[in-house]
Order: sequence, then structure tokens, then C-alpha cells
Amino acid sequence: MTQRASQLSPQPMDALWMPYTANRQFKSAPRMITGAQGNYLIDDSGRKIFDGLSGLWTCGAGHNRPEITEAVAKQLATLDYAPAFQYGHNLAFELAERLAAMAPSDINKVFFTNSGSEAADTATKMARAYWRQQGQPTKTRIIGRAKGYHGASWGGISFGGIGANRKMWGPAMESDHLSHTLLPQNAFSEGIPAQGANLADELIEMVALHDASNIAAVIVEPMSGSAGVIVPPAGYLKRLRQLCDEHDILLIFDEVITGFGRTGDLFGANTFDVVPDMINVAKQLTNGAIPMGAVLTRQFIYDTVVDAGGAPYNIELPHGYTYSGHPVACAAAMASLDILEQEKLVARVAELSPYFEQGVHSLKGMPFINDIRNLGFAAGFTIESYPGEPARRPFELAMKLLEKGFYVRYGGDTLQLGIPFTTEKSEIDALINAMQDTLMDAHGMKK
Ligand code: PLP
Repeated sequence: MTQRASQLSPQPMDALWMPYTANRQFKSAPRMITGAQGNYLIDDSGRKIFDGLSGLWTCGAGHNRPEITEAVAKQLATLDYAPAFQYGHNLAFELAERLAAMAPSDINKVFFTNSGSEAADTATKMARAYWRQQGQPTKTRIIGRAKGYHGASWGGISFGGIGANRKMWGPAMESDHLSHTLLPQNAFSEGIPAQGANLADELIEMVALHDASNIAAVIVEPMSGSAGVIVPPAGYLKRLRQLCDEHDILLIFDEVITGFGRTGDLFGANTFDVVPDMINVAKQLTNGAIPMGAVLTRQFIYDTVVDAGGAPYNIELPHGYTYSGHPVACAAAMASLDILEQEKLVARVAELSPYFEQGVHSLKGMPFINDIRNLGFAAGFTIESYPGEPARRPFELAMKLLEKGFYVRYGGDTLQLGIPFTTEKSEIDALINAMQDTLMDAHGMKK
């Protein structure tokens, strides 16, 4: 494969061990980003690359928004850091109020983290703390879902369900996994697929196996992103909610990708009309500019844990991070939420998603395309690869697309799109055309 050598070479590249990256391949053909503007990344030759994944599902409002830059600079010059434990600062309270008002139903308490992984740990620790303070300390098991992604911490790789991310480490937390909902009968469904809500009933078997007295929570992404955009079947999440209620199990939605507009609603919970007990967010919260995550929980979880805190000087939940609610991250989040609201970006995604849907599904019948899935401004394609090498062709296609000026994510046997909320129709057209050309070229077909 021919690849453009990095203009930064021979920059020493010995020291950096890159995350979730094929280090040897990367260092043999570096892909260096030197700038970004709007819907585009800029590489080290000054080339503009359409950002088909909004960074890593992070920068829906487009890159380098001056409003965020200014808010961050101003905050840095005012209060660079405030101790996160036992001291407060206004912006953290203000942002929490704002998030509580945005979240559905009585999800109105906010705990800040720095990432989605930390949010996954935090939410599941809160679930256990809740049951312990309810006098049910054996309720500790966390149930995830096959192909689910909840980050790279020990928690995330325990109840996360992507095999490749779990296999290297030996024992982590013992967890169970519901089946994923990627069903052959739903192949090429547009939006929410019709069949498979009954898969939620697997929770009944897990309750029979472990007894509900040992299960703390179920954690799922309303739409699995990292595994290649797996949209749950109609009724699946509602059934899961019903079963969790019946068996006194908390339901956590990991909305690190779906939170703040990706599905065309503020939260995936809104899209599927299900109120979970906790919602995890990160990524789009600050438009990717500063690391930040949060767990949004229902009132009763907070009340139970905090009311059982004992003497007023006792710390009720012995948990937190040095940078929880960091003032600069709060400033970035406030500015990002301002942009979402002022530019009505969530409504924009809802309005344009049928156009995007039509575009991605126009690739049906193209070489190597075994399935296409979509919701809002997210899409996943299952790619027919080489025998025994499921990840190879997605990688090759992504590299070809990069040569054409389009960043598309490859992961497992899939290609993934998470276009910026600010994407124009003409940019959707250009992306789909580039994908079509790339698939045909790879198959040796003529236009
Ligand atoms: N949860 C979901 C659904 C994610 O997609 C991700 C990251 O992609 C995470 C959690 C982990 O977030 P982070 O990488 O910020 O720890």
C-alpha cells in the first residue's frame, strides 16, 4: 500500500506508545494531524480531511470553535484549578444545574469525571453503594452486553463486551453479558430495526442464575458505537427497563457517544423513550476540547447514599477524581452547550438525518458491504474482509478514504461514521461518493 510519508518525519517517534493504535503500522506510515477547523482535520501537508467521526465522536459542533477557546482562556486566567474535594466553585454547580435540567425525568444529580471510562466506574460504584445503603450489600453484579463498550478501565473491560479489548489482561471484575442485538434478519434496516426486542428477556435467565439479590445494575449503550453502530430493536430498551423494575435492578445508559445530539435528540434515552436510573456522558459534553465526563443520576440514588452518610462531616461517597468538575472543563462544557442550543444543532441532526440515512443506504449492493446501520448522524457498515482477517479490509478501505481526504473510523469488521452536527448536505454527498469510489476501486470495478 502506498502511503504518503509524514512531513514531520524524521521526527523521532520512539517514545510514544499510542492508545488503541497499531503502533508498528502507524510509525511506518504516520498520519499526523496538525490543525483542525470546522468539519475538517488538517494534516501535516496542509491537506483538509473531512472529519467523518467528529474526532472520536467528540466534536459534533465542529473543531476549533472560538467560543470554546475564549471561554477556556478566560477561565484559565480567572481560576485555573480549584480543589475538587471539599471546596467548590460556581461553574461546577452551574453546569450541574444545567445538565440536570437537560436530562430526562428526575435524573437531576450530576457527578463529574474526566472521561467515559471513569463515568462507567463511577456509575457502577454508585449502583453498589446504593444497594449497600439500602441494606442489600450482596447486590454487586454488573451486567453488560456483548459488543458493548464502556471504556478501558477495569470496570469497562469487565462489563464491556468487545472481545479484543478484554482478552489480554486476565481476570477483571466478574460480569455477565446480554447478547448483542446485531441480528441477520435486521440487516440493512434503516434507523431502528424491527426485530429482536425479546433478546432483553435474557435478563430473566440471568436473574434465575444469580438471583436478583446479587445483581446491582445493567449497563448498556442505547446505541453501541464502538462495535460499529448497533441500534437496538424497537422495544428492546423498554423491555430492559421493565425487567429491571420488576427485579429491582438499576439501569445505566452509557451515553458517552449518544449524549448531546448524536441520535437527533439530546440523549438516546429520549430517542428510545426510556428513563434509565443513570446516564453517563463525556466526549460531546465539551465538544472534545477539554477532557470531561459525568454521571447523571436519579434523585433516589443520591438521596439513599447521602442520607445514609452518618455524621454531617462524613464523606458519603468516598469516590472522586482530582480533576472532577475542573473549572476549565466546566467552562468548555458551558460554551459547548451554548453552541448546541444557539445553533439548534440537535434539531439540525434530526432534520438532516433522513438525508444522511438515504446516503449511507445508497451503498447497499456495493462490493464488500454486508450490512448498513444508522441512527441520527451515526452509521456503521459491516465489511466483508479476507478469510481469517476480519479487520483487514476495513483498515485498507479507511486508508484509501484518507488518501481521498475523508477520515472514516475502522474497527473490527466495520467502518463507522459519526459526522459533525454541522455537516452540510454537499459534504454528505462527497463522503458517500468517496466511499462508493473506494469500494469500487477496491473491487477493481469501473464506474
Ligand atoms: N463509553 C462509551 C459508550 C464510549 O464510546 C467510550 C469511548 O469511546 C467510553 C465509554 C470511554 O470513554 P473514554 O475513552 O473517555 O474513557
